[in-house]
Amino acid sequence: MTKTSGKVIGVNGNMVSVEVDGDVALNEVGYILVGDKRLKSEVIRIRGSQVELQVFEMTRGIGVDDQVEFSGEMLAVELGPGLLKQVYDGLQNPLPQLADQCGFFLDRGVYLNALDRETKWKFTPSAKTGDHVSRADTLGTVPEGIFQHRIMVPFNLPDEYTVKSIASEGEYTVEQTIAELEDSKGDIHKVSMMFEWPVKRAITNYEERLKPTEQLITKVRIIDTFLPVARGGTFCVPGPFGAGKTVLQQVMSRNAEVDIVIVAACGERAGEVVETLKEFPELIDPRTGKTLMERTVIICNTSSMPVAAREASVYTAVTIAEYYRQMGLNILLLADSTSRWAQAMREMSGRLEEIPGEEAFPAYLESVIASFYERAGLVRLNDGSTGSVTIGGTVSPAGGNFEEPVTQATLKVVGAFHGLSRDRANARKYPSIHPLDSWSKYEGAIDSAKTEYARSVLFRGNEVGQMMKVVGEEGTSLEDYLVYLKSEFIDAVYLQQDSFDPVDASVSKERQEYIFSILLDIITASFDLSSQKDARDYFNDLRQNFKDFNGSEWMGEDFKKLEKTIRDLIARHKTGVVHGAEKIMAEAR
Ligand code: ADP
Ligand code: MG
Repeated sequence: MTKTSGKVIGVNGNMVSVEVDGDVALNEVGYILVGDKRLKSEVIRIRGSQVELQVFEMTRGIGVDDQVEFSGEMLAVELGPGLLKQVYDGLQNPLPQLADQCGFFLDRGVYLNALDRETKWKFTPSAKTGDHVSRADTLGTVPEGIFQHRIMVPFNLPDEYTVKSIASEGEYTVEQTIAELEDSKGDIHKVSMMFEWPVKRAITNYEERLKPTEQLITKVRIIDTFLPVARGGTFCVPGPFGAGKTVLQQVMSRNAEVDIVIVAACGERAGEVVETLKEFPELIDPRTGKTLMERTVIICNTSSMPVAAREASVYTAVTIAEYYRQMGLNILLLADSTSRWAQAMREMSGRLEEIPGEEAFPAYLESVIASFYERAGLVRLNDGSTGSVTIGGTVSPAGGNFEEPVTQATLKVVGAFHGLSRDRANARKYPSIHPLDSWSKYEGAIDSAKTEYARSVLFRGNEVGQMMKVVGEEGTSLEDYLVYLKSEFIDAVYLQQDSFDPVDASVSKERQEYIFSILLDIITASFDLSSQKDARDYFNDLRQNFKDFNGSEWMGEDFKKLEKTIRDLIARHKTGVVHGAEKIMAEAR
């Protein structure tokens, strides 16, 4: 195939217009030749022989008449063993020294192999000569960290094949041939352990998509109990600057019950990204006792990198996630922050002089966001096993205004909304997810009648709290005051969670169920407390003990001691169940 070439006819920021001498395709990769450098770019618009490219590099030095070479290929990632533990930029360049140094960005025009070509992987064949296979069928496996990495028929092979030969058990690099496949015309295709896949095309080699019904336990109480996430589902975390989005994602990446975590850190402050990278290799995976990096891939772009690279990074991340899903694994993809990505789209749309939508975002913003989140999913693979990709994205709306287009477009497609509140963050109530404004369409482990009751207490307690600001405590009835104390209690001992306490930081499903039932006992109880002061003192006492309880090792000696103290405290003043809670408490028994 002869490759198309072209000449630069105009430069507008990161967008370069090119006159081409042949055919090019949308999303095809082109290289602009500047001196001895080849700057990677992607076709984003074609009008006759004029083509617009977005350049993944700083465009300084590019001038009219510079040569452009098109690759004939879409922007793609390398898939194969060796992706785990890697830190990549948006174009899948490995940045291994990243954690040690700050000036870590690669020189312009330098592109490295994503997968190491020297490493040898211990391949064990599972297919045999004569087998009939098609794309995504397993040919063999190699151990990668704690997983069996499936070596599959490359997804870009369109036909049915007969296995002509397969490598015997042994050590191979990703480039060595491990199988020869014969197609229906009798042509032979040599297959190695790696292949490329275009990032903007979803990987769909599965039997069927299933409805995400199984809960993904994050070990964050407010999420798992009140705002659950499903395996294969989607959620978003909008919040103003400094409200705790990044910390919450780090907590989830550490503790969520998934096999692999992929972090797409796109475009927040450079320092923050470096911090993430320094921290991650040191974090110990609570499940394996090894460093968390063993089952993590980080894709990172900071605000100092060109905007186009941010866009690439979310697609690179989701493609890698889909690849591991094909191995029957559960993957959590966290994108922080999708607003930076949307801003990149806005910038490029402006340069293309497209008709702008709301707040100058392109009119197709919604559909682009939707098609990104649609790549999440629980699927049943051809061999009957299941795999999932769960996607959680943060959104950082200017001024924390959730009415803006990116938040709104995201809310239309996700299954759960964990909205962070500026007020809660200011009061250092972490995680600062707003318990009443947020929602989830998924089912959690705890019966929703019970969690709804707790929410109703939060809601009423909040109302009483507002009223009390006007009329004071004296003007509030004891009954109302108790509702207020109960809602504050739920907040203090259940919604808030100390992500720096070794025990409280991650709370298992069993423990959540266990302590929620004690919490429910308290918030549904009527008490023989005769004054507001007595009530306040009593709840202070309960709260202090419950917080210590939260910090005690599950079912350890302290745990049992504190549980007894709390149950004794309840028994001392409980007289029955408040009106309206009889039914759920009868069911709880
Ligand atoms: P964002 O990403 O929303 O801008 P960050 O996640 O960086 O905000 O959080 C900003 C700061 O708030 C953190 O540096 C930390 O001091 C504090 N913070 C956020 N979440 C927590 C938490 N769960 N526990 C304790 N402190 C937190
Ligand atoms: Mg952040």
